[in-house]
Amino acid sequence: MNLDNVLKIAEGTGDEVAQLTSGLVKYNSAHPDGFTDGCVEYIKAYCDKHGIENEVHANDPKKPNIVARVKGTGDKNIIWVGHIDVVPEGKLENWTYPPYDGVIADDCVYGRGSSDMKGSCAAAMVSARTLNEMESIPNTVEFWFTSDEEIGGGEGARWLAQSGRFKGDICVIGDGNGGGPYAPSIDLGCKGGAGVKLIAKGQTAHGSTPYLGKNAITRLIKAIPWVEKVDNFTLDWPEGLKSAVEGSVEYYKGMTPEESHGVMEKNFYTPSVTCNIIHAGVKINVVPDYAEAEFDIRLTPGSHPKKVVDRIKDLVKKSGIEGLEVVPTREHAADDYAGYYESPDSSFADQFKAVIKTITGKPVNMKILTGGTDGISTSKIAGIPSLGYGTSLTGQAHQPDERVTIENLVLGVKIFTAFPLVYQ
Ligand SMILES: [Zn+2]
Repeated sequence: MNLDNVLKIAEGTGDEVAQLTSGLVKYNSAHPDGFTDGCVEYIKAYCDKHGIENEVHANDPKKPNIVARVKGTGDKNIIWVGHIDVVPEGKLENWTYPPYDGVIADDCVYGRGSSDMKGSCAAAMVSARTLNEMESIPNTVEFWFTSDEEIGGGEGARWLAQSGRFKGDICVIGDGNGGGPYAPSIDLGCKGGAGVKLIAKGQTAHGSTPYLGKNAITRLIKAIPWVEKVDNFTLDWPEGLKSAVEGSVEYYKGMTPEESHGVMEKNFYTPSVTCNIIHAGVKINVVPDYAEAEFDIRLTPGSHPKKVVDRIKDLVKKSGIEGLEVVPTREHAADDYAGYYESPDSSFADQFKAVIKTITGKPVNMKILTGGTDGISTSKIAGIPSLGYGTSLTGQAHQPDERVTIENLVLGVKIFTAFPLVYQ
């Protein structure tokens, strides 16, 4: 089938992809539970109804993953990976529509996960059906829908990769913001983490006699700015990433208000650091002897988390504050490099770029995502070159009132259907 016909068919799938997005949103798969069994049943029912081969793979029965497979005539295997777990909804009063109602309004689908990334998963489902209805397709395509992405892929992509279930020549990650029809972009990789926990210890005492104790909260609060100083540390990512880093800085500047451009300038050259969790105190009349703070620290791919953690340890030591300890919170932080990245010059990248350019009629930017994706597992663990294109709407991931445009979803259907047909 020629590409024009495929795109015409995809153009008519707006209602279907919106309904499927809404259907997925209605199954609450938010962490901390992150249960994906409802979403997986929903995807399975769709596959069964349309005669699409599928299998459920679960290490934890409440957090299953599912693959939909369309066999091709050739020997190449393309895998598409997207996640069906979501982050919590936060305060309900910040939502115009309830977060798990999947309301379709104003040419958008609203709800937790619509942008990140149940909409993209719905687009992949429609692509699987469209490809499956063709007489024959050249490449085998597997659409994987995974759990646990938002917490590092433990029962999802990480487990699927470690257990050898991902087998493919190339991988398309459906996560992230591909810029929609107006500013299309491909993700060459994503940042990785070097998270740390800062622990402050002190000495307990009665709340009425604080001078007899050593307050761990006071120590922690004084120490936090010392950890934050690591945002001046120059990262050691590989030279080959230079053009992608420069492209990313420009891309993120375009997405952020003018006053944040200074931050974007250094966002890929130094770590980002933010203290997002504090645990401390037991009772109002007890001077606490323990307090801890957790930091989310993100690094440009190819740089070394250990060096950053060591730098933080130096800074905390330099602070001169007593009773402090820095503990790395990321697995493998000691010997690994952060995130992942692919070459912008591969045949895969050229072909993927060409398809998106043909469909959108726009030049395609190459960038590095600031957030992590399942691409870390498919690329670094399964060893499959992984490029990202997602249908997310700018600025919507993890936000209240999250939504996605049906226009973005239809574009996703086009790209996820067309690319496996033309890839050589
Ligand atoms: Zn995501």
